Amino acid sequence: MQKDTDYLNLLFDISELADLVTGSSDLESFLELAVDLVARHFKAPVCSIYLYNEKSNRLTLKATKGLKPEAVNKIHMKPGEGLVGRSFETLSIVREGNASQNPGFKYFKEAGEDPYNSFLCVPIKRGVERIGVLVVQHRDLNYFEMSDERAIWTVVSQLAGSIENARLLMEVPQTREDMEMSAPLGFIKGSAASGGYALGKSVVLDEPHKSILYDPMAKEDEFTKTDFIHAVEKTIQELKDLQKGFAERLPESASLIFTAHFMILKDKNFIGKMGELIDNGLNPVDAVRKIAAKYMAVFSASPHAYMREKAQDVEDLAVRILSHFSSRDQGNACEKGSIAIARQVFPSDILKYVSAGVKGIILASGGVTSHVTILARSLQIPLIIAEESGLLNLPGNTDILMDGDLGNIYINPDQKTVKLFETKAGAEKEAHSASMENTTWTRDKERVVLMANINLLSEVPLARTLKAEGIGLYRTEFPFLIRSTFPSEAEQYIIYKKLFDEMAPLPVMIRTLDAGGEKALAYSDSPKEANPELGLRSIRFSLKHRDIFEFQIRAMLRAAAGKKEIRIIFPLISSIDEFLEAKQVVYDCMDDLSKEELEFNRDVSLGMMVELPSVLATIDEFAREADFFSIGTNDFIQYLLAADRSNKMVADHYIPCHPAVNRGIAKIEEAAEAHHIEVSVCGEMAHEKDYIPFLLGVGIRTLSVDPQFLPMVQKTVMGLDMAVARQYAAQMLAQTTVKGARSVLDAFKNSLDRKSG
Ligand code: PEP
Ligand code: MG
Repeated sequence: MQKDTDYLNLLFDISELADLVTGSSDLESFLELAVDLVARHFKAPVCSIYLYNEKSNRLTLKATKGLKPEAVNKIHMKPGEGLVGRSFETLSIVREGNASQNPGFKYFKEAGEDPYNSFLCVPIKRGVERIGVLVVQHRDLNYFEMSDERAIWTVVSQLAGSIENARLLMEVPQTREDMEMSAPLGFIKGSAASGGYALGKSVVLDEPHKSILYDPMAKEDEFTKTDFIHAVEKTIQELKDLQKGFAERLPESASLIFTAHFMILKDKNFIGKMGELIDNGLNPVDAVRKIAAKYMAVFSASPHAYMREKAQDVEDLAVRILSHFSSRDQGNACEKGSIAIARQVFPSDILKYVSAGVKGIILASGGVTSHVTILARSLQIPLIIAEESGLLNLPGNTDILMDGDLGNIYINPDQKTVKLFETKAGAEKEAHSASMENTTWTRDKERVVLMANINLLSEVPLARTLKAEGIGLYRTEFPFLIRSTFPSEAEQYIIYKKLFDEMAPLPVMIRTLDAGGEKALAYSDSPKEANPELGLRSIRFSLKHRDIFEFQIRAMLRAAAGKKEIRIIFPLISSIDEFLEAKQVVYDCMDDLSKEELEFNRDVSLGMMVELPSVLATIDEFAREADFFSIGTNDFIQYLLAADRSNKMVADHYIPCHPAVNRGIAKIEEAAEAHHIEVSVCGEMAHEKDYIPFLLGVGIRTLSVDPQFLPMVQKTVMGLDMAVARQYAAQMLAQTTVKGARSVLDAFKNSLDRKSG
């Protein structure tokens, strides 16, 4: 169709402009008429206006023709963010023939943007004043041409004056209520780290709550020794309750998380010294502060990381005791049903929040290790990472709705939005519990085995309910991460035995400690490394700390006594020598256990994670030595493409469909098949709808995914023809460029979409 932009490229006639202003009943409808008019002239199905608000330093979608109307006022971008933000910041036109291919493109699922390929965006400005951005979009690839750039400049310069007025008026608070609205943030787009919905009151967990340690407290001179004793008793009870919550939710951590707290409370020099000071006339509040400060100073000065950690425990304890002196609570401690907003979290924080009954967690200044994410998912608690430090200033008790699946945060959501989510959450819960088939087959009746990845014992019941055919990966590092010292052989034995008992007679693949790198153990005294991901991590750590490794292997072998199908996996193997060395440790442990006449399992299989590019070159030899392979695509992609899996800045370089990744996976599968050993995929790729067809197409028949993904993965497999998947994989493997691989992937996805309807 011919666009109306041929020239005068494209001056609206004056009556059209006048109609815009006079024909609109309010400011919103003026903008709606404006987008409608522009869309009509460009014969574009989508036209949208984003306006800039200086105070919040954000662009907000204010009117759209073609995108979902409910996205208006809900989508925000910072200057520089996405193509829209870039056009605004650089004051230049952005024209893309296939916008989704531009790494800078920010896609908003809730706006329904997916079908639109061509994208033309122009900043709206008046003199030097930046007002916003106007965007037109079209389904056809390369729909907009150079001449359209000129036309859109002309259009926007004509509209800018009126839009500017509309913006100023819209920003004037309309009612007193509006003026007093506590949360100007409204809607924030973050990145989804752990899915699910949560509605609750905000609790900002930032430093200020520690003010109780330093600020004068009302009537602090009037407190007595009895008040002090009561405050300590209440603290002990509070910690016991928290501990109980933990034990129920996390058997691995029972009685451990607050061990240090209880020990400090028992220390005569701590509570006893406080009592002495009070007896000598110091007021109880100052006595607590004085002794706590002394302990904190000693611990903080320690050269050992695990000792420095104790300073935090003392601080936490002092805050708890002081908060029990008066009716004043801890200000911003987590409460049951609340949404925790924090600057930073560690795995142990997640556990503390969850045991306190927090419903969701928002990280207000980005940056999180992938294991915090994995832990949040295991605990089924939504986690969103938002680069929005303004969240830390949010008043406590503000209503927050989190959509962890999309990374959306709604502040003070209206009733309509809440209802919508409640209905959605209800429907998903039903779908979640919908009965799954016992076994999984493709449409043309080829068998695929679906297993579960487990990080915590609390996930086992869900894996069983959702008919996982075994555990394809048990990450043993979590019991190590959440403790304050290395767990003993006996403690590990109890955990592993529980896992094997609960899964029997199904197979369990249990991985040895994959610590180090971003999964640093707070209590390990390893020196800080410049490149931890390339450092002393994983199997390297285990082989260097032989005693820790042996305790773990012994615990596994003993817990596996009398069980079938127990498989031990070594992570991050880089050479045959390393693999043989790890295997030898197992054989040595078996010898020791038989000398000690302890029961254990001699028939465990020994396999390896395939995660490093170095393994590819000698994959056949590995297949001769290993009983099975498990492909850890998360690390495989990270190391093959040298793109840190948790660094947002290189997210565009982390490309699961990269030809090197595709060919690498195919090569691993071929070697496994040639040597008749089992191979499974347990990285995130195994639950990605887009990559499952390729994995099956190259011959992978076992996928291991987080339990909550099992229904979706089964549905995807059951909707596929293996013959089609094979053809598709062959086509993918023929590609030499990322662009080529992406277009084959897109074409395949489109053909599936067409089939489904
Ligand atoms: C992987 O690397 O794909 C994997 C499953 O291991 P982890 O995510 O624990 O590193
Ligand atoms: Mg890995």
